[in-house]
Amino acid sequence: MNVHDSERLAGQLEEAGYVAAAEGESADVVVLNTCAVRENADNKLYGNLGHLRARKNDKPDMQIAVGGCLAQKDRGDIVKRAPWVDVVFGTHNIGSLPTLLERARHNAEAEVEILEALETFPSTLPARRDSAYSGWVSISVGCNNTCTFCIVPSLRGKERDRRPGEVLAEVEALVAEGVLEVTLLGQNVNSYGVEFGDRHAFGKLLRSCGSVEGLERVRFTSPHPAAFTDDVIDAMAETPNVCHQLHMPLQSGSDRILKAMRRSYRSERFLSILDKVRAAMPDAAITTDIIVGFPGETEEDFEQTLEVVRQARFSSAFTFQYSKRPGTPAAELEGQLPKEVVQERYDRLVALQDEISWEENRKQVGKRVELLVATGEGRKDAETQRMSGRARDGRLVHFTPTGAAVDTAVRPGDIVETTVTYAAPHHLVADGDLLSHRRTRAGDNAEAGQRPKTDGVSLGLPSFGKPAEPVAATSTGCGL
Ligand code: SF4
Repeated sequence: MNVHDSERLAGQLEEAGYVAAAEGESADVVVLNTCAVRENADNKLYGNLGHLRARKNDKPDMQIAVGGCLAQKDRGDIVKRAPWVDVVFGTHNIGSLPTLLERARHNAEAEVEILEALETFPSTLPARRDSAYSGWVSISVGCNNTCTFCIVPSLRGKERDRRPGEVLAEVEALVAEGVLEVTLLGQNVNSYGVEFGDRHAFGKLLRSCGSVEGLERVRFTSPHPAAFTDDVIDAMAETPNVCHQLHMPLQSGSDRILKAMRRSYRSERFLSILDKVRAAMPDAAITTDIIVGFPGETEEDFEQTLEVVRQARFSSAFTFQYSKRPGTPAAELEGQLPKEVVQERYDRLVALQDEISWEENRKQVGKRVELLVATGEGRKDAETQRMSGRARDGRLVHFTPTGAAVDTAVRPGDIVETTVTYAAPHHLVADGDLLSHRRTRAGDNAEAGQRPKTDGVSLGLPSFGKPAEPVAATSTGCGL
């Protein structure tokens, strides 16, 4: 969500006439888009601001803006702790950034503007997309749940849904520019429609994406097990361009802990959803999120998590050690666990999941996979002479881009087919000749350094062109 917000920030700045600083060039404006979900977000933000202070001393006209979840949380405290910051804006008013920069420059003082409710749906703002072949499309923002460990509802507010027509218009606009894959984004995609009174809106939306010509892959994140209904499984199974990939957050396998987390499903229901998904789509890759060491978690609770993990056979899992988020109910709970207990459980969980991921990945060896070739997914690609891409089920595959099937050269954004030759716990390798290679418009655009720029909704027509330079000094939030 934050990465996509950063695309909106970049789009707005471009629209306001800003030009991105080239690599190595000193920027006049630096925007930090922060996340409050990650541990140590505060330390990272203030560490980064400390580094920028020296830059600003050398270049007093430089402007520094801080936005996103941490800004929404810390508000005016940011300029108290770092008085060299020029602009602070929150999650509800990312559209104000150019005006606030202007005002701060004009008044020569810091501008702090935090709103309590959404001012404009971020999708109404222009966006400079990061990728020529894959695009994020928000279907909702905010969340009506109250998970006790989560800071999101207090920083992103209640759920607001976009109308299906607007979502589809944005999907179509991206596809018209060559984008092959969209990921529908929402804090809880299954409750999509709550605002306009249609409980089955998400399944219908998936089916509608199925009729967008040229759209090859549809993904979504994240569903919530409590609200996950059979019509969504049917829509996934029956809509050919919806990928058989599901990220289903478990958080804990202990019903007692799920209750304390205020997650309204229980482990049995969770596993029954997975059974239904696999019955409908035997090739589905299911991933999850798990928190270890929630306050009051006993060894027995943790064993229950391990047991659910054994039964669920996730293809991979994002595992987290619980740490307090000030402002959340769980931060006040008794029974906070010592770090060494959490670490020891965490290590056992990671070891078990790695073993399962590896076993599941080994089942892929010898299979033919279709890959959307990606940029920046393989750290060792240069030294191994491989390229990387995502299979339809989301698995990362490093492949050798050679063979008679190759049409000129394989580029990010192209589609290739190959056979998996080796499995590691977190990736696959395909070292044989390619079985097929399809050059795409996304590949042409990626090769030319062009990325889509979508106008805000009701979208109008997107423009497509080479951005003046790589995206400005806009930092994505996830590192913060
Ligand atoms: S469903 Fe729970 S964890 Fe997810 S955003 Fe909402 S409150 Fe947070």
